[in-house]
Amino acid sequence: MTTTRILVTGGAGFIGSHYARTLLGPDGPPDVAVTVLDKLTYAGNPANLDEIRDSDGFAFVRGDICDPELVGRLVSDHDQIVHFAAESHVDRSILGADAFVRTNVLGTQTLLDAALRHGLGTFVHISSDEVYGSIPEGSWPETDPLLPNSPYAASKAASDLIALAYHRTHGLDVRVTRCSNNYGHHQFPEKVIPLFVTRLLDGQPVPLYGDGLNVRDWVHIDDHVRGIELVRTGGRPGEIYNIGGDNELSNRELTGLLLDECGADWDMVTYVEDRKGHDRRYSVDFSKIRDELGYVPRKELAAGVAETVDWYRTHRPWWEPLVPEAGRQAA
Ligand code: NAD
Repeated sequence: MTTTRILVTGGAGFIGSHYARTLLGPDGPPDVAVTVLDKLTYAGNPANLDEIRDSDGFAFVRGDICDPELVGRLVSDHDQIVHFAAESHVDRSILGADAFVRTNVLGTQTLLDAALRHGLGTFVHISSDEVYGSIPEGSWPETDPLLPNSPYAASKAASDLIALAYHRTHGLDVRVTRCSNNYGHHQFPEKVIPLFVTRLLDGQPVPLYGDGLNVRDWVHIDDHVRGIELVRTGGRPGEIYNIGGDNELSNRELTGLLLDECGADWDMVTYVEDRKGHDRRYSVDFSKIRDELGYVPRKELAAGVAETVDWYRTHRPWWEPLVPEAGRQAA
């Protein structure tokens, strides 16, 4: 059996590490080797890879996707790339967009150039539903224009366009996924779910933006990772695939769920000034990946949230050291 050597960028982060653990776990494909390339920014955590550190076919390289020499060397030794590495937090992109443009745009282009030079096979580019902007009703198909609002979303949209341009111009086998908001274990506690859960577990109030009526579609990382694998193994070159969870909730509804799970009530909620340019609603139409590749989200939201809260409850040593960097004191 030939082994497919996959370079997973950003594989020490929330979703990338779940992808790497899944590929090398008991239910992963038998024929893959995985190298994680990760800079280990504040969001990257080597502990996320402990489970697979000793697995056959696993390697870890600390490095920057913007480093053409390192990237060239690694790409020449691999057959495919699944590209997660990014600056991922909208609030940080509002405070300063430098790192977002550098990593998300230049880093992606550095990887694409190396892929082209070394005749790489498939390049799966992991993107976000935020590239579409905000939609008052209905859902975006993949053909909708990109109208990103935050600097984070704009940098992701730019990287999508460059990735697709390498397909159209050079024929590189690029596949783009655009997923809605992910939740699950190992998420850095600056993002809303782990931020709220870790605060509530510590008996602290949680900050709810604006009127709390912004709507997001929540997808469990198991479902996102399965969608990505379907695209890597069965998707078509040059195509974009939306991935959703079919779980639209306002932030207020989400907060209610988290309060219940943590045994807290609404007096733990502080309404705070809204995020600048806060997108009101995201909603992807994911019928393409469902019809072409058989993707359906399987994780039921209440069960997924309960499991997630339970993971944070039982994994304090994982998240407590991250609290100062997560900026909790500012909330
Ligand atoms: P994350 O912030 O948890 O992880 C990002 C990882 O990338 C970290 O390990 C970090 O160290 C690494 N990294 C950052 N800059 C790097 C660089 N220059 N070189 C090498 N590594 C670098 O992010 P996440 O939530 O796991 O998101 C992963 C991807 O999925 C991102 O591309 C994001 O845009 C996309 N996405 C995320 C969500 C979500 O809800 N979290 C939804 C849709 C799409």
